[in-house]
Amino acid sequence: MHLGSSTFWWREEALVPRHFEQLAAAGVTAVEISDYHPNFDYFRVQRLRETGRVARENGLTIATVHTHLRWYDPALHLAHPEPKRYRRAVEAYLRAVDALAILGSSLLLTHDLDLSGEGGGEDPAARERTVSALREIADYAHAAGMRVVVENMPRGWAADVSRLYSVVKAVDHPALGVCIDTAHAYRGDEVEQALRLTAPHLMALHINDADARVEHLCPGDGQISWATVMQTLHDIGYTGDFVYELDDARHLATLQANFTWLHGLMSGKEV
Ligand SMILES: [Zn+2]
Repeated sequence: MHLGSSTFWWREEALVPRHFEQLAAAGVTAVEISDYHPNFDYFRVQRLRETGRVARENGLTIATVHTHLRWYDPALHLAHPEPKRYRRAVEAYLRAVDALAILGSSLLLTHDLDLSGEGGGEDPAARERTVSALREIADYAHAAGMRVVVENMPRGWAADVSRLYSVVKAVDHPALGVCIDTAHAYRGDEVEQALRLTAPHLMALHINDADARVEHLCPGDGQISWATVMQTLHDIGYTGDFVYELDDARHLATLQANFTWLHGLMSGKEV
């Protein structure tokens, strides 16, 4: 597993070369770019190329781009009931895949799935549209050598990992998988269970701790049993990137030590 980190903790700042230099100096080799940065733009080709170049020059791979298209526009919903708006949402994801190709990243991550209908139940029509949208996006990504992952959430429809996973299984596409956010799973479901259930399609992780009030804590600062998490990752044979998604960039100084500590909790497994 490679030590990875999200740029989430710098989300309110413009993403600049200094950030990649800091990540590299801290021992990070895989970076997840969050698209919250005010200067992140899916359509600025030159800037995307430049960002990719700076990351590579620092020895980093851009493991993932965490896209938040519904944060940009709530109508970019893959279950949108109006055909034109549904189409617009799918096209937005396809353009995000194009941007990743320019950037040199191979994994698009979204947590924007929501199939809830009236009264809190699931809307079967929303499921049908979402499955069809994900199939089209996964096909498009696959043709470009990329993959798409959907992430569990701390609350709402996507907090139930078995529901989220049932959509991934319904699409049944080699380029579509799951990202388990450990803190979200701790709050919404159960971490070990979430990892074991999704193991055949587990392509990404968001590593962070949680307590009763907050998430995005550094592992060890919250209530998650990391010995259980690490043993489960060992048992299921997870080999993807180990991406921290923390709130406070001060943890960068001790990230590598935390990574070593966590991997030491696995029995009979090297880092
Ligand atoms: Zn996350």
